[in-house]
Amino acid sequence: MARNHGLKQRPQLGCARHCYEEVGDPDDVCIRLYSMESKDIQDVYLQGLIDTMDIARRRPRLNYLNSKKKSASFKYHVMVGHQRIGVCLTACLSLQRIKVKRVRRLRELAILGESP
Ligand SMILES: [Zn+2]
Repeated sequence: MARNHGLKQRPQLGCARHCYEEVGDPDDVCIRLYSMESKDIQDVYLQGLIDTMDIARRRPRLNYLNSKKKSASFKYHVMVGHQRIGVCLTACLSLQRIKVKRVRRLRELAILGESP
């Protein structure tokens, strides 16, 4: 039953959610990024699509445990039209054809409160 489910869709490697379906046309996401003039402008744009969430703050009682290492989690988005759509990291990388290394660098800068 339903053996051929998903065959008509693009590969959705590593995505357990339905990010690709929500985004619609992946080329639109990718073209937007690569139509930007420089890598610096791209990086500022990409960083704006990553939300940093300070998870240490959610549990004040454990602050003394967390004080040594600063932990944060991240939420990723892509722009489709004027909409900012939440996606998983895998989809974020594959839709925009960027490397995880680049995202890591932007995340680190975001934690420090710096722009690329
Ligand atoms: Zn996903």
